[in-house]
Amino acid sequence: MTRAFLSLGSNLGDRLGYLRAAAEALGRGPLLEVRGVSKVYETTPVEVDEEQPDYLNCVVAVGYGASVIELLRFCQGVEAALGRVGKGDRLPRTVDVDILLFGEEVVEGPYLIVPHPGILRAFNLAGIADLAPGAFVPGRGAVRGLLAGADSSGVREFEESL
Ligand code: AMP
Repeated sequence: MTRAFLSLGSNLGDRLGYLRAAAEALGRGPLLEVRGVSKVYETTPVEVDEEQPDYLNCVVAVGYGASVIELLRFCQGVEAALGRVGKGDRLPRTVDVDILLFGEEVVEGPYLIVPHPGILRAFNLAGIADLAPGAFVPGRGAVRGLLAGADSSGVREFEESL
């Protein structure tokens, strides 16, 4: 099994409900074992064209028994099943599932980039640090150090957890 960290985000409708449903759907994967869920963070959207509702985000630590490409397909299936309406970073969505880390693998393909470029956002680093304080981002360094240098403005701990 490879240890992976997935980023879950939602900014439409019952945001916490979508995160819970996504975590549950991930756990039903035959090759996937959910090992932990971070705190939930509420974040002001960044790099969006129009005003959008705030996101809820969390990180899920999993063990996965197949390749990173298969994990991507599985995550996309979970997004589709939960009714995501469009593609693209800048659209609101019911739920977004991204692969932040997959073991120590580095992938730079047209459809898959691992570590995910968004891993350096404070809420993703904070979520990983909640679950694995000693984790490293290949090519970047220790999560704890990266978090200390990240811009945490617009990121708040949410009062409820999964
Ligand atoms: P997004 O709208 O942020 O979910 O991005 C969707 C697209 O990002 C998908 O079509 C994937 O092919 C691509 N992608 C690239 N790297 C990753 C990754 N590490 N995790 C999830 N999607 C990725």
